[in-house]
Parts: sequence; C-alpha cells; structure tokens
Amino acid sequence: LAEKLQNTFKKLKGKGKLTEQDVSEAMREVKLALLEADVNFKVVKDFVKKVKDRSVGVEVLESLTPGQQVIKIVNEELTELMGQTQSKLTFASKPPTIIMLVGLQGAGKTTTCGKLSGLLKKQGKRPLLIAGDIYRPAAIKQLQVVGGQVDVPVFTMGDKLSPVDIVRAGVEHGVNHGNDVIIIDTAGRLHINEELMEELQDVKSTVKPHEILLVIDSMTGQDAVNVAEEFNGKLGIDGVILTKLDGDTRGGAALSVRSVTHKPIKFVGLGEKLDDLEPFHPDRMASRILGMGDVLSLIEKAQASFDAEKAKDLHNKMKSQQFTFEDFLDQLQQVKSMGPISQLLEMIPGGGGKQLKNLEVDEKELVHIQAIIQSMTKEERLNPTIINGSRRKRIANGSGTTVQQVNRLIKQFEQTRKMMKQFTDMEKSMKKGGKFK
Ligand code: GDP
Ligand code: MG
Repeated sequence: LAEKLQNTFKKLKGKGKLTEQDVSEAMREVKLALLEADVNFKVVKDFVKKVKDRSVGVEVLESLTPGQQVIKIVNEELTELMGQTQSKLTFASKPPTIIMLVGLQGAGKTTTCGKLSGLLKKQGKRPLLIAGDIYRPAAIKQLQVVGGQVDVPVFTMGDKLSPVDIVRAGVEHGVNHGNDVIIIDTAGRLHINEELMEELQDVKSTVKPHEILLVIDSMTGQDAVNVAEEFNGKLGIDGVILTKLDGDTRGGAALSVRSVTHKPIKFVGLGEKLDDLEPFHPDRMASRILGMGDVLSLIEKAQASFDAEKAKDLHNKMKSQQFTFEDFLDQLQQVKSMGPISQLLEMIPGGGGKQLKNLEVDEKELVHIQAIIQSMTKEERLNPTIINGSRRKRIANGSGTTVQQVNRLIKQFEQTRKMMKQFTDMEKSMKKGGKFK
C-alpha cells in the first residue's frame, strides 16, 4: 500500500495554486461532512465561506492533491476555531474557587459534578458539592450518590429553601470547612425559560462564581446554537463541558457552541462512569467532526514523507560538506515553522542538536539575512571562504546592512557548519562502534 500511495503522490507533484474550482469541489464534500456531524447550518455556511476565502490561491504542497490541500486547510481552521490549545480551569487566587454547572435537563450536570470533583480531588484539591437542584425528583439523592462514589462531601438543605439560600449557605459551609473548590449543581429545564434563567442569574449574583460552565449533551444537534446563545447571552458563561461523546455522535455541537459563544470547551464526558471525564483536545475534536480520518491520515503521511525527503537531502549535504549559504537561508526560514531542521536535529545522536535549536530567528533578522545572502554572488554563496574585507563591504552596501551584520552572519554560518561537521564525525564514530549511544 505504501508503494501505491507513493506512486499516487508522485503523479500529483507540481499542482500549482488552488483554483476556485478546486476549492468549491472540495468544500462541497466538507459541507456535507459538517452537516452530517450535525453542525448548525448557519455555522457551516459561515465556516465554508471563511475557508473558501482563505484557500483560493494557496500553493498546493508537492505531495497533495488540490482536494487534500483544501481538507488540510479545513482541518487547520477547525482546530483553530476550536481553540488551538487546551483550556484549563481558572482557580481563584484566594480560595475557594466557585464553579457553577448550568445546562438543560439531562445534559449531564449532576454526573459531571461528580466527575469534576473526583478529578480535582485526585489533583489534591478539597472539593465540596452543593445540591442546588430542588426541582427534579431525587436530584439531591443523585448528587449524594455520585459524591459518595468519589468521596467528596455534598452540601444539601433539602428542597424547601430557594436555590439562592441553599447556595449561599453552602458556600459559607465550604469556607468554614476549608474546601478550596466548590461546585454547584443547578436545576435544568427541558427547554430554556425565563424562570430558569432568572434563578441562575440570582445564584450567580449571590456567590459570584469564578467559572460558569455550560454542560451540553453532544447529541444536541442543530439546537446547540440556541442553547449556547441563550445561556451565554443571559447568564454569561466561561466555558463548556461537552458530555456523551462516547456515543456515535460526531460532536458537531462542539463547533456550533464554540462559534457562537467563542468560549472554550474545557472538558468532555466520555461515559457514565465517574472517571470518564477528560480535558478537551481541539485537534482530536476537529478530525472527529470532519469525519475524514482516512483522508487526514493520508495527508499527514504525505506531509511527513515530503518533510523526510527534504531532511534526507540536507543530511546528505551535511555529510558531504556541501552545506552552503543557500541551504543555510533555506533552513533558517524553516526553523520558525519547526520544519525539517528540528526533525533533523532529533535524528542526530548525542543531543548535540540542542545548540542549533536555540538558534532563534526572528522575522526581522530573517529579512536582513535574506538580503545579505542575496547580495552575495553565486560563487560566494557556495564558497564563503573567499568573502574577504572588500567583498564584505560590497555585500553590506548591496543589502542595506552594515559590515558588522555581514560579519555576524558569516560567523554564524561557520559555526553552524562546524557543528554539522561534529555531528557527522559523531555519527562516523558511532558506526565504528564508538563510545556514543
Ligand atoms: P442533569 O439533568 O444535567 O443533571 O443530567 P444527569 O447528570 O442526571 O445525566 C443525565 C444522563 O446522562 C444520566 O443517565 C447520565 O448517566 C448520563 N450521562 C452524563 N454524562 C454522560 C457521558 O459523558 N456519557 C454517557 N454515555 N452518559 C452520560
Ligand atoms: Mg441534575
């Protein structure tokens, strides 16, 4: 199969830039995939437009088809939209941290209270749960059961007092008992209504939670947008917990909710058991929603083989000491994107690559370096030892830099070259069964 893939890639080399038609064709498929994942259609529409605008004219990677290139961009955009990195809980500088879980009935609030408190307890916190749902029959009992399972105390005053009174007393109880995290379980409704929102607003203004987390069932399809909009608009949320991702849903709700609220998804629920809660990973979610796992891994493979080829090429040059200023420039440009050079360094035994990794390149410097190298003659680039004083002056003038800058670059280059020689020597002695390893 690998061979077959490679043949396909070979055939597709040199595709040029993405055309309007390439993009439209690929986006039709993407649109279907997103709708199938139950992403809200308005969100899909906006997203598709955004990616189209970004894609037309983009250079197609040597090893990808135009369609794959578009999907690559889609995946990047999705990941970006979902928040590039994991988003953690905010803890109060002065404990207790108060966390309030809100959401519709059946979303998974009470279960998640148990999961989250268990997780925090494992991290060394001393959580307290407050039973703030006085409406749903047996809601208090349910919280007591899950609290018991993770060995976290549950504060309750039954269902006779108002949620505001219960929560106020609960927080006071927590403060007196040294609880550093207080998690409030609240009531939901089958549908959003004013009464629910008012009650939640009252609780919010009474205890001023540090985190209001909206719990959403990932099977909530098109409606997820409305739910998220309402809760965020009326109450203001700080983040989202997406439950029931263990089902066969592709989780389009994640994208919908994120798009309308711009609030991070912090955790995902992956089952009914109390340790089935995990931090949210934007990249995993993106590929799940897209539902194109096969295509994505194909793209990854293509990308990897592309990089490996380049790295191998450079490696050979290093070995034969043919590393020139042109390669240097090429590499500097790639250091920023942590491209082949970093992979190359990982391949080098003995950890000697660390010094090179510290070679920081900022954008401005890169422009100077580029100008300097471009002001060199071809001969000078290939054979830097001939660059004497007068040549240096000429290069500085030609590139709008100073002789000092030219000197510094040449020195840097020589150091790099020397380091590379060390690496190859090291390799040689390893092959001879030397002392490294
Ligand atoms: P609440 O009304 O928002 O408090 O929701 P509950 O916590 O009572 O949960 C409703 C149902 O969803 C219960 O049967 C839970 O066991 C189930 N549930 C909650 N989270 C998950 C999850 O991540 N995966 C699965 N499969 N079920 C879940
Ligand atoms: Mg509940």
